[in-house]
Amino acid sequence: MMIPFVDLKAQYQAIKSEVDAAIARVLDSACFVLGPEVEAFEAAFAEYVGATFCIGVSSGTAAIQLAVMACQIGAGDEVIVPANSFFATAEGVSTAGATPVFVDADRASYTIDVSKIERAITPRTRAIMPVHLYGQVADLDPIFQLAARYNLDLIEDAAQAHGSEYRGCRVGALGRVGCFSFYPGKNLGAYGEGGAVVTNDAEVARRVRLLRDHGSERKYQHEVIGYNFRLEAMQAAVLNVKLQFLDQWNELRRAHAARYAELLAGADLQTPSEMPYARHVYHLYVVQYEDRAALQQHLSDAGIQTGIHYPVPIHLQPAYASLGYKAGDFPEAEQQSGRVLSLPMFPELTDEQIVRVAEVCASAAERVMVA
Ligand SMILES: *Cc1c(COP(=O)(O)O)cnc(C)c1O
Repeated sequence: MMIPFVDLKAQYQAIKSEVDAAIARVLDSACFVLGPEVEAFEAAFAEYVGATFCIGVSSGTAAIQLAVMACQIGAGDEVIVPANSFFATAEGVSTAGATPVFVDADRASYTIDVSKIERAITPRTRAIMPVHLYGQVADLDPIFQLAARYNLDLIEDAAQAHGSEYRGCRVGALGRVGCFSFYPGKNLGAYGEGGAVVTNDAEVARRVRLLRDHGSERKYQHEVIGYNFRLEAMQAAVLNVKLQFLDQWNELRRAHAARYAELLAGADLQTPSEMPYARHVYHLYVVQYEDRAALQQHLSDAGIQTGIHYPVPIHLQPAYASLGYKAGDFPEAEQQSGRVLSLPMFPELTDEQIVRVAEVCASAAERVMVA
């Protein structure tokens, strides 16, 4: 039996009647962009993350761009981001007109190494954007301190961290502004593209709302040049259904992670650890192994799908060649990019499947080690 990396069909089957009814409601209403479904989701998600404002947008990448712009950060400004993340973290900074400045990854948490942020601060630095990578939270207290000392904004990239907690508080609106993605495979995923910006800052919320809809609050009156970054009603309707299950699904992910850790304890693999300050929601279950290619091949031969998040750190992407970074600049991020392997992780994973994945991993790790 093939074991998929994620199984969106299994999840849909479990909530099919509610999702189908929600989509039918949108079709009947003939209100397809923004409108009541989007407003209902914005209110529910703001409450979920403990934010005053939530603005639904068309993607996580759009959320990042608008969050940066709404902090009035742009050309000539720098935003500190981790070298190990999905490309969109830096891309959103760039499309806002600012320049990403990369910082190495932390060995234990995989998130930004907070001990290396201060040396990346320059007179042009305007914000620090930690990424709660794989569902693990970045260590925010030292970042809050730096942000206060240097008068910087804290922008959270929470695209992989719906429901993650930092010292008991849900992430997203712990800084000035936070960004979520509802790409289908995320812990809270739409059936298409979607994203959200959350904030407690009324002015930031107002600017995001303007920018997502052609710089306009009132029809045909345009205060600024903006974008079409609106969230569709169909996606909001799906998200309204799925948000009710998010905590339950995250609990299942956590239970699966605990089971993996237990079963892989004897293998020659580095398994992820939950930082003492964090509640990890395991968007991805990422192990590290010296001979990653062999491990991935062995799993693939056994019908087990895996992923690599991410094979090339952002500072080494061709798109950022002009920034002048080179191999060796961020040794930990570079080492991780060569060793990380994401095992199947989704709420509907069965214990049988977890046991099978762990067995194959353990035998591969042993075999390669002995050979
Ligand atoms: C998915 C993701 C994004 C981008 O979200 P999209 O909705 O795909 O545009 C940004 N940052 C991180 C860390 C992500 O995982």
